Amino acid sequence: MKVTVLVGGVGGARFLLGVKAALGLPAVGPAQSGPDASGHEITAVVNVGDDIWLHGLRICPDLDTCMYTLGGGIDTERGWGREGESWAVRDELMAYEADPTWFGLGDRDVATHLVRSRMLRAGYPLSQVTEALCHRWQPGVRLLPVTDDRVETHVVIDNPEPVPDGPPQVAVHFQEWWVRHQAKPTAQRFASVGAETAKVLPEAAAAISDADVVLVAPSNPVVSIGTLIQVPGVPQALVAARGKIVGLSPIVGGRPLRGMADACLTAIGVETSAEAVGRHYGGRGEGGLLDGWLVHTGDTADVPGAETRAVPLLMTDVEATAEMARAAFELAGVTP
Ligand code: GDP
Ligand code: CA
Repeated sequence: MKVTVLVGGVGGARFLLGVKAALGLPAVGPAQSGPDASGHEITAVVNVGDDIWLHGLRICPDLDTCMYTLGGGIDTERGWGREGESWAVRDELMAYEADPTWFGLGDRDVATHLVRSRMLRAGYPLSQVTEALCHRWQPGVRLLPVTDDRVETHVVIDNPEPVPDGPPQVAVHFQEWWVRHQAKPTAQRFASVGAETAKVLPEAAAAISDADVVLVAPSNPVVSIGTLIQVPGVPQALVAARGKIVGLSPIVGGRPLRGMADACLTAIGVETSAEAVGRHYGGRGEGGLLDGWLVHTGDTADVPGAETRAVPLLMTDVEATAEMARAAFELAGVTP
């Protein structure tokens, strides 16, 4: 079976572990080869809106979170970055007061960024760089950036350091708002810088339109999925998708489970509820994204043009997450 999953970082990566398990693959690491090979093919189309240049290094938080999680190198406690991390590089940069001081780059993580940045500077596109990095990590899933072009989420916020006659509002990179300011200054709006001229990675478009089923991970609906599905070429691939498209709500009981997705939803005028997010994506029968929408047990949602179902949506462990993937397959009418 060909399964394509639209993902962001931590929520997307954890969900991918469950998708692999639901298909009988080892959650972490590569599929077995040889006669036991499952014959299933999982492709993750990954958001690049959080990517940023820092200290001359290209950082791709969502791609790296997926790669480390599926390859067994993630710090499971934090949910991002390398396990067994040390912070000498960060401390040395701080001693130089080298801006920005608010983004902690771990020593092990830095090696990934060095390899990536060097390859990008040598002219390799991000998709090929990612493939090269995955030779080491063997995620067992094809990880594709949604585009090789630079598409970065910026946020217009009330100026956190107002000065007389200064601008009342400023635009900052998403990471600066999220990490440095903890999403506290109210976001007025988001801008996807570079999106107008970007093009979907052809392999990602093909993975969406050719899949037996497309899953929308319980990732941030605004800055992960929202950014990804607006990259030119993605809407067309979604419309053309021959398989059903089923989403899973990241909002449970009216709240995001980790992180500050509510701050993003408020900024775009969407209520923080499973129903409102489902309606924001829209039912495919009504020109929207979704054939099916899964919400957490106890939540209800009426999404015109999509079939909804309530099942447990807490990714407490791999087995619980695999159950979520199975429920999505069932709603899509596919059997692995
Ligand atoms: P990020 O890029 O690292 O912020 O990660 P994602 O965008 O992929 O995922 C963030 C979203 O995952 C948040 O909005 C959370 O609400 C959601 N999330 C995290 N854990 C769970 C869970 O156990 N169940 C569900 N349904 N959503 C979750
Ligand atoms: Ca992210």
